[in-house]
Amino acid sequence: MNRVYCCFPGGKHKALTMSYDDGRTQDRRLVQIFNENGIKGTFHLNSGLFDRGDRVMPEEIPALYKGHEVACHTVTHPTIARCPLPEVAQEVLEDRKTLEKYTGYPVRGLSYPNGSVSRDIENLLPALGIRYSRVVGSSDSFALPENPYRWQATCHHNHRLLELGEQFLSLFKKQYLYLMYVWGHSYEFDDKGNWELMESFCRQMSGKEDIWYCTNIEFLDCMDDFNRLQFAADNSFVYNPNARDCWISVSDGAPICIPAGGIVRL
Ligand SMILES: [Zn+2]
Repeated sequence: MNRVYCCFPGGKHKALTMSYDDGRTQDRRLVQIFNENGIKGTFHLNSGLFDRGDRVMPEEIPALYKGHEVACHTVTHPTIARCPLPEVAQEVLEDRKTLEKYTGYPVRGLSYPNGSVSRDIENLLPALGIRYSRVVGSSDSFALPENPYRWQATCHHNHRLLELGEQFLSLFKKQYLYLMYVWGHSYEFDDKGNWELMESFCRQMSGKEDIWYCTNIEFLDCMDDFNRLQFAADNSFVYNPNARDCWISVSDGAPICIPAGGIVRL
């Protein structure tokens, strides 16, 4: 029987994604660095704090974050594990509603403000249309998330970033899928005066043939698409019911594309 492996788009086996919170004005410089290097990321915004003066303006959202993902960070950034659940629900849903007015697409990602989460909140999120939420801290790992509602990054950018980047670049075993996930806040680069750290990292990671550069939700959508593929019982053919192409490798052959809506004999 054919042995089928999931691949990232283009048949790649490594993915890089970035995740930045709070939507401060320093996002403009950070997005520019990402764009210059073909790096993609997710920006978690508080829709109730746009008028604070240190945040990007909502009208900027479509152009500034083009090609990246805009995601929730709640309306007002409360420590939600201390709040009643109906309040948490509204903090998330109202954030989605406002952000979606500017993005024009369903906003399905979240990062927990102050990293605050509980089991009840985690269980609530699917009903609010949220597909994942990021916690704080660093895992120092390139493993795929086991629980997307407690998604921990590989590292904060101030934690071993260039060293972990080197490790990630050197991974070559194609029997595994790897993810490097970096998080932080763009204002931290001004606070620490270390923009060159992110510039170096993005240059280091840029333009690699074996890396898929994706947003947080693109990563999960790719995994979800794979899980919806319908394989024949003997793996001799597969149907892709998704609206996106999927990539698989069959018995260690070169990766192949299963076109959206198509049936392919394997
Ligand atoms: Zn925050």
